[in-house]
Amino acid sequence: MLPIQTVRLLSFTCLLAMAMNASAETPGDAANGPIAIAIHAGAGTMNPDEMDRQLEAQIRGTLLEAVQAGHHVLRLGGSSLDAVEAAVKLLEDSPHFNAGRGAVFNSEGKNEMDASIMDGSNLQAGAVAGVHNIRNPILLARRVMTHSPHVMLAGEGAVSFAREQGIEFADDDYFYTERRWQQLQQAKQDADVKSAHADAKYPDRWMSTVGAVALDSHGNLAAATSTGGMTNKRYGRVGDSPIIGAGTYADNRSCAVSATGHGEFFIRATVARDICARVQYQGASLQQATDDVVMGELVRMGGEGGIISVDAKGNLALVFNSQGMYRASVDSAGDIRVGIYKDDAAAGE
Ligand code: ASP
Repeated sequence: MLPIQTVRLLSFTCLLAMAMNASAETPGDAANGPIAIAIHAGAGTMNPDEMDRQLEAQIRGTLLEAVQAGHHVLRLGGSSLDAVEAAVKLLEDSPHFNAGRGAVFNSEGKNEMDASIMDGSNLQAGAVAGVHNIRNPILLARRVMTHSPHVMLAGEGAVSFAREQGIEFADDDYFYTERRWQQLQQAKQDADVKSAHADAKYPDRWMSTVGAVALDSHGNLAAATSTGGMTNKRYGRVGDSPIIGAGTYADNRSCAVSATGHGEFFIRATVARDICARVQYQGASLQQATDDVVMGELVRMGGEGGIISVDAKGNLALVFNSQGMYRASVDSAGDIRVGIYKDDAAAGE
């Protein structure tokens, strides 16, 4: 038998350890709230009859991998910010989507990228616009949020900031994809800024962007969006993706939104903020708010595209007024869905 002092000491040590655990509630420790995540990788004209089946399988595989990467962070008790960053980084690393490695070319044959991220717990946000040779623009956007007093940095200034911050660069070859190059040649022939339809086997004959929204077990929402913008763009054109309130928004009091579509319309309709404002001030459900904005306001204006969103209870809404949207989600019950076309039923549709 143990002497009584030893038993007391052991009990005291156990109690101390329990107390320390209870008070060590830092991001990364598991909490009990619901978790949910959704991602998108662009919306547009997506015709299943034209889709190369092997390519479709690859795209679905990457969407699944990205949503699972984010969900893994959430399951371990990680933050929604880390989850959306992990998912978007993986999509930026894929040549299939218009962000990071697969970014479209501007009229000068360069890849000029935009990205943003927002923390719904404190309304902090970071964004970059018109940056080049940055391997993962989403990491740079987050660095703007955490390591600068600013919200958005653009062009060469943002690139200098990236160098100072030790952000990873990649040379032009890394961003070269034959498909995007052909899209530029076609767009130049058509003298068209929007269209990107040189390669019939790809279904996304438009622009596209990648993004993620998440709710973590601590009740915090986050959103992230990254894009190469529009093929053949000129004059330093910037779309909605890096604009807080247009392409990206997150507020724990309402919801988190990431958008994809014709940026000029999304900017004018302040899409992401409008959805969250309807939830916050009107008491609209997430589904109602997203339907009203994407299928109502945007359609009236002629703006094509879609959004993904999650609210503070873990409800998801994935809504698009285009023919299709690359998307995936894991809802609060753990159900995983991957979709491209209208009739692929993803969570929140
Ligand atoms: N929203 C992006 C932009 O206008 C493009 C897209 O999502 O398709 O730059």
